[in-house]
Amino acid sequence: MTATVAAPFPGPSLTSRFCAVLGDETRPVRAPFTGEVLYDLPLSTPDDVVLAVARAREVQSGWAQTPLRERVAVIRRFHDLVLAKRDEAMDILQWETGKARGDALEEVLDVCVVAQYYGRLAGRVLRTRRRRGALPLLVGVEEVRRPVGVVGVITPWNYPLTLAAGDTIPALIAGNGVIVKPDPQTSLIAAWVADQFLLAGLPDGLFSVVTGDGPTMGSAVIDAVDYVMFTGSSATGRIVAERCARRLIGCSLELGGKNAMIIRADADLARAAEIAVRACFANTGQLCMAMERIYVHADVHEEFLAHFIPRVLSLRIATAPGWEGDLGCLVSPEHLARVQAHVDDALSAGAIAIAGGRARPDIGPLAFEPTVLEGVDESMILCRDETFGPVVSVYPVLSDDEAIARANDTAYGLNASILSRDVRAARAMARRLHSGSVNINEGYAATWGSTASPVGGLGDSGLGRRHGEGGLLAFTESQTIATQRFLGFGPQLGLDRERWGEVLAAAVGAMKHIRF
Ligand code: NAD
Repeated sequence: MTATVAAPFPGPSLTSRFCAVLGDETRPVRAPFTGEVLYDLPLSTPDDVVLAVARAREVQSGWAQTPLRERVAVIRRFHDLVLAKRDEAMDILQWETGKARGDALEEVLDVCVVAQYYGRLAGRVLRTRRRRGALPLLVGVEEVRRPVGVVGVITPWNYPLTLAAGDTIPALIAGNGVIVKPDPQTSLIAAWVADQFLLAGLPDGLFSVVTGDGPTMGSAVIDAVDYVMFTGSSATGRIVAERCARRLIGCSLELGGKNAMIIRADADLARAAEIAVRACFANTGQLCMAMERIYVHADVHEEFLAHFIPRVLSLRIATAPGWEGDLGCLVSPEHLARVQAHVDDALSAGAIAIAGGRARPDIGPLAFEPTVLEGVDESMILCRDETFGPVVSVYPVLSDDEAIARANDTAYGLNASILSRDVRAARAMARRLHSGSVNINEGYAATWGSTASPVGGLGDSGLGRRHGEGGLLAFTESQTIATQRFLGFGPQLGLDRERWGEVLAAAVGAMKHIRF
C-alpha cells in the first residue's frame, strides 16, 4: 500500500509515494527557510515495518539470484534518473533541510559517484574466490559472498539523499532488500529515492521507506532486519549498537565528530582561508566532517585571521530555494537553540566572537550567522561537544606537536585536516592524528569524495566504514564451501592412528617449504 504526499512548494511535480506507510496519523513538516508547513507526513507504525520487511524478504531471494550485471543495470538507470532529475531532488532537499543549493548539488553528485563506483567494483569484489585448502590438492575451497538479507538504513536529516541512497546502493548491488528509516524532517527525499528506484526497474517491495520517530520506528527497524547501517549522533549510535547486539546482528555506526584543522606555519594562508571557509561552513556546519576547531601556528595566527574573517563575513545566508546564498539555514528551532546555547555559553564565559555569533530572525526564522570564536577554553561546552552548526573556534598553538596533542584531545575521531606547503611533513603528522580520515590541503571533500577509500570514525565517531570495498562487503556474509577429494582427514592407507599422525606431521612440516 502506498501513501501520496503532494508538497505545496513550487517546481516540477513533487508528488512522491511512501512505499510502506500504512498508518493514519500524520505530522506536519515545516520548511526551515520559512517556518511554514510543507506537507503532512504520513507516519508508519511498527506493524508497517514488520510488513515491509516481510515483503522485502519475499522479493529479496529472487533479487539475489538475479545476475549481478542486471542488478548493476538497475543501479545505473537509477544513477541516470537522479542526475537528470537533479533539480527536483535539489528542490526537495532545499525545502526539507534549508540547505544552500550548492550543498544540495553535492548530495546529488555524491550519489552518482557512489553508483558509478560500486557498479564498476561489484563484479570483482562479489565474485566467488578459490582459497587454499587445508591440504593442497586434497581440499578445494570456495569463498562465496552472500547478501545478509534485508538491511535497515537509518539516516539523519543533514545529508538525507546522500545517506539514504548512498548506503542503499551497495546493499542492493550485493543482493539485499533495504528498508530506510529517515529522520522525520526529511522523509520526502527518501520517498523520492524510492520512486527513482522503481522507475529504474527495482522490484517492487525490495526497497521501502518507513517514517516516524527514532525511538519507536528506528527500534522497530532494528528488531526486524538482518543488518543496520546507522548514521546519526554518538548517543543514539550507542543505543542502536546495544539493540543490534541483543539480536546478534551486525551494524555500521557512522557518528558525530569534533573535527580539527591544523594550519602549519608554512601554509599558504590565502588558500588556507578559502579551504577553512568551506570546511567549517559547508552545509551550514551541519556536516559530520565539518571543522569545529582550528589550531593555527602562533606565528601566522593573525595573518590567517586577516584572510579568514573577511571571507566569513562575506558569506550570504540562503533563505529560499535557488542558487543565492553560500550557506543555508539551520534545520529546526530545536537545533538553532542548541547552536545558540553553545555560543552563548562560550561568550558568557569569556570567549569572543570575531565573526557572527547570533541568530538572524530578520533574515529567516532559522538563519544563524557564520561564527568564529576566540578565547575558547575547557570550561565551555563547545570546546569538546559537537555543535553541528556554523561555528568554529580558533586556537593559536606553538608547535606541530602541540597542534597534534590538542587535535587528539577528544573522544571523537572522525575527520581532520592539515594545511601546509610541506606535504611530506603533513603526511607524517597525519599518521599521528586519531582520526578515521585526514585531508591534507583540503577540509573533507578529498577523503569523502575518494569513494574507493573507506571513511568512518574512531572512538565515539563510530564503528565500521562506508565506501571502498569494505562498504560493499559489509552487506554480505562470507560462506566457505570446502570439498574434500581423494583422501580424508582420518587414518588412511591402512595406517594406524600413530603412523597416520606421523604422516600428517611430516606433511605439515613439508608445507612450510611449499610456495602456494
Ligand atoms: P540522531 O542520532 O538524533 O538521529 C539519526 C537517526 O536515528 C534519525 O533517523 C532518528 O530518527 C533515528 N533515531 C533516533 N533515536 C533512535 C533510536 N533510539 N533508535 C533508532 N533510531 C533512532 O542524529 P541527528 O541529530 O539527527 O543527526 C546529526 C548527527 O549525525 C550528528 O552527530 C552528526 O555528526 C551525525 N552524522 C554522522 C555522519 C557520519 O557519516 N559519521 C554523517 C551525517 C551525520
